[in-house]
Amino acid sequence: MGLLSLGTPLSWPETKALADHVRDHGITQFLYTWDRWAGRKGEPLLWGDEIEYIVVSLQDEKKRASLSLRQSEILEELKNVVLDLCNEQPEKSMVIPTFHPEYGMYMLESTPGCPSGPHLKDLVSVEANMRFRRQLARSHLKPNEIPMTITCFPRLGVTDKPFTDPECMSVADSPASQSLFVGKGVTNPHARFPTLTGNIRSRRGSKVAINVPIYKDTNTPSPFVDPSIPYDRQLWPGDSEAKNGAAKPDHIYMDAMAFGMGCCCLQITFQAFNVDEARRMYDALVPVAPIMLALTACSPAFRGYLADVDARWNVIAGSVDDRTEEERGLKNDKYRIPKSRYDSVDCYIANDSRNKEAYNDIACPVNQKVFERLKGHGIDDALAKHIAHLFIRDPLVIFSERVDQDDEESMDHFENIQSTNWQTIRFKPPPPNSSIAWRVEFRSMEVQLTDFENAAFSIFIVLLTRAILSFNLNFYMPISQVDENMQRAQKRNAARDEKFFFRKWVFPLGKTPSHVDCRSRSTSPNGFRSMNGTNGNGSSVPHTPSTASFNLDDDSSCPSPSVSMFEPDDEVEEMTMDELFNGKGEFPGLLGLVNAYVNSLNVDVATKCDIRKYLNLIKERASGKLITPATWIRNFITSHPEYKHDSVVSEVINYDLLRAIDEV
Ligand code: ADP
Ligand code: MG
Ligand code: MG
Ligand code: MG
Ligand code: MG
Ligand code: MG
Repeated sequence: MGLLSLGTPLSWPETKALADHVRDHGITQFLYTWDRWAGRKGEPLLWGDEIEYIVVSLQDEKKRASLSLRQSEILEELKNVVLDLCNEQPEKSMVIPTFHPEYGMYMLESTPGCPSGPHLKDLVSVEANMRFRRQLARSHLKPNEIPMTITCFPRLGVTDKPFTDPECMSVADSPASQSLFVGKGVTNPHARFPTLTGNIRSRRGSKVAINVPIYKDTNTPSPFVDPSIPYDRQLWPGDSEAKNGAAKPDHIYMDAMAFGMGCCCLQITFQAFNVDEARRMYDALVPVAPIMLALTACSPAFRGYLADVDARWNVIAGSVDDRTEEERGLKNDKYRIPKSRYDSVDCYIANDSRNKEAYNDIACPVNQKVFERLKGHGIDDALAKHIAHLFIRDPLVIFSERVDQDDEESMDHFENIQSTNWQTIRFKPPPPNSSIAWRVEFRSMEVQLTDFENAAFSIFIVLLTRAILSFNLNFYMPISQVDENMQRAQKRNAARDEKFFFRKWVFPLGKTPSHVDCRSRSTSPNGFRSMNGTNGNGSSVPHTPSTASFNLDDDSSCPSPSVSMFEPDDEVEEMTMDELFNGKGEFPGLLGLVNAYVNSLNVDVATKCDIRKYLNLIKERASGKLITPATWIRNFITSHPEYKHDSVVSEVINYDLLRAIDEV
């Protein structure tokens, strides 16, 4: 989470009354930033990951795995460890990681000490950095605690047994969420988090209601009406909602922000050469986001039950859905907002003739006043629309001490709205008083069980962005089809069974793959360099002919595919995961593009082999030779001797599962 300002949070009515104040000043702050950066260009590629962990506490004698609610203590300790390391080895302080608070009291987030640069050695060192971070965290936990990179704790919110350590089964103490399942102990007590939780509920007018289809096994009752829900509790006004229809039959019902914001993900942020490049990159990654969600799927179980989905997205979207009944289209249809503030991207933003109106084909309401102001300041339609769309939302948390700000010096009000619009891709403006420039964040991936996998997906995404820029690729397709992919991506076994829409022809107009010449970098020199500092188009490096330089295969001895005549057009095709990554006909596959980029670089064989090792994981997972973590977890549960084919993930199964994951 970006913003953790300290102070006294305002109540929902007070916050609501200040919504326009925050929006007006937020836009003023954005415009100051815009002007400050106007015309500035030439920022280097910098990038970094964020990894979230769930701290699991294992009680072997009870065969119980629970959530350790010690985030505050752990972070305090890690802060001191990091300081000591920096003092002992100041020359290494750049690589010493940082740990951040997260929504769940059982969560940690880690980032590298500083962003990685444009050298290939930075790329291949990411796994070691991730291991170091995990190791550092683990060695400062209790002996029975483990920082695990699982997306969702399978028994968060069960009602039969304790699922936290210390036990806090009493859910009567959670005025913010009024949840039937999770007490306030699971939420970070920093004022921001309970206030977010409470204000979302207040704004919406009811508790959030998440219903995930249950996986119907042979002994699962049909219809499935969850016997573990305390339907008749009468502690909070929201208690009757489950009984009155919020909990749907045949679904796993969840009623609190913790179920979504308590999930872990893997995010990658990269700095662009300039604002236009950031916008092009953003657009190109929009159609990639659902595909990466499916390929990284890691969450097949929620609240003690196996689900008929493999990924977290709809859960987290539902967990912060603050829209009123009217906005959700349940009451008169005057003012509808089609999606939660946590959801997939609604419009492309590039100032690029390839960004056609026809691709922006879903409803994308805007704050008209904000739109006009941005336009009046000379900002083009596409970007003005994006910001004005974010600004249809109300601020959710305002600290009384932060109401009045110096708009030239602060981005707090802008970030208030921006950081509570959780979309698959985020366009990040430069922070004030900092050399950090325009960035794009890739946010859809689920965290993987091992650092090798997390490194592989990070490396793949970073290389894909370089391929997009180097070859000036065009991934545009209708957003409605991206959204359809987003739903398909979450289905059980999506990576193996589903097809996804993707643009068939990704090369610049009039070019065939063999015409695409990576020597003529069309955009910026923002690519990778080999260790000695020369890059693929460095002057000291002899160029290979263009046909060879666009070598789609992962074995550079293979010939390029022969493409004769092709009508470049807008065609979108449904493809399997294998085809999407490994290619089909004229479509080289996302890996084909990445391989072509890597092959275009003047890199030593050893580094290429290192990179290949990671790309192979992507290749094999896409081909189905390797299964997703979601499938692995599901198989573990369904083949456990104690599993009764009733969809229930019991305490013992959960314990054995987490033990097994730790051994991996
Ligand atoms: P947030 O939670 O707001 O998304 P974090 O600060 O947790 O952001 O993580 C941002 C990531 O971006 C980190 O991995 C960090 O190393 C990386 N990063 C920092 N500065 C830059 C930069 N100038 N360009 C690109 N990435 C950066
Ligand atoms: Mg985070
Ligand atoms: Mg972060
Ligand atoms: Mg964040
Ligand atoms: Mg982030
Ligand atoms: Mg949206």
